Amino acid sequence: MRLEKTIQLLSDLVAFPVLGGESNLTIVDYIGKYLEENNVEYQLVKNPEGTKASMHCRIGPAVDGGLILSGHTDVVPVAGQAWDTDPFVLTEKDGKLYARGSADMKGFLASCLSSIPAMQAASLKKPIYLAFSYDEEIGCLAAPELVEAINRFYEEKPQFALIGEPSVLKPIVGQKGICVLETIVHGSAGHSSRIKQEVSAIHVAARLITWLEDKMEDISRNNTDERFHPNHTSLHAGIIHGGIAPNVISDRCSFHWDIRNIPGDNLHKIIEDFAAYSKSLEQELQKRFARARIETIEHHPPVPPLDTPEHLPIVNLIRKISRTEELDTVAYAAEAGQFAQGGFEAVICGPGDIAQAHRANEFIEISQLEKGLAMIDRLIEEFS
Ligand SMILES: [Zn+2]
Repeated sequence: MRLEKTIQLLSDLVAFPVLGGESNLTIVDYIGKYLEENNVEYQLVKNPEGTKASMHCRIGPAVDGGLILSGHTDVVPVAGQAWDTDPFVLTEKDGKLYARGSADMKGFLASCLSSIPAMQAASLKKPIYLAFSYDEEIGCLAAPELVEAINRFYEEKPQFALIGEPSVLKPIVGQKGICVLETIVHGSAGHSSRIKQEVSAIHVAARLITWLEDKMEDISRNNTDERFHPNHTSLHAGIIHGGIAPNVISDRCSFHWDIRNIPGDNLHKIIEDFAAYSKSLEQELQKRFARARIETIEHHPPVPPLDTPEHLPIVNLIRKISRTEELDTVAYAAEAGQFAQGGFEAVICGPGDIAQAHRANEFIEISQLEKGLAMIDRLIEEFS
């Protein structure tokens, strides 16, 4: 029964093609109606324009020590991907449910929602909260405000946060941080033969990107964390734009880059070092061209890494309810570090496999949904 309900909810949820960055009010409205039908009072945390909303609610008594089940309502685009089925219609084949967001992470949202009646029927001694965000896929933008709103709204203090990102239900206690930046170099245009007189924005960008790579080598010599693959902080430029012709010195070149830091490395320090190098390079270039400039924009605020120590009670709890002793880490970014920063003991543990996320023919195995529901059941038991 619960499984059928979960699949039905999942089928409804995947039909909302809400991409990261877009308004998510349609899906929020749907979830809100479901909560109302189940007599659950919920709160919205809207963006300033009122076009997007996170939501949170509590099931159980207003006492300290509760656990937040957290997920995001947005998904990544399907454009350019070769899907065999309609990505926004849940399609079952050989025990697998195909759709965009089936694994990442509407399967978990559906499991939380279908478990509400079970939570209500149990006489919970500690509360379970649901917290659903938006814009996770474009840089975990909404979670900091959601976390703050939860801390502000409830008089009691929830202790734990379980982020249901797909981990095939393995407890994840570590996660890299991330920051996405764009650097724009302003040089001077001219004939390519004048390379010593003008400032080629492309050549400057190349030096900056080489600096990033050298920096990565440098820090990875001093600091590694064997729980992660790769075992070091990575710096990478993924987009570069510049130039109009082979024989024209380019006056503008921009590149997007990211830092994925292990918990032991300070992301802000790396950004500061880059800024200092940019500044010195800029001063050197301005001797040739006074208006040469290097600017760097943070495309979203840094998402902190997750590093939950094994001795915290959440680790015990997640081992018990997931029936998995072994702890793991992931290289992808998620909202867990933000919940940890907000004062909650946080772990990632959810149904489905991240290997199936973000690609064509994304799916979740029905057996994963079943196991996820069993985990929520054991949580309810623990809290009753
Ligand atoms: Zn996700």
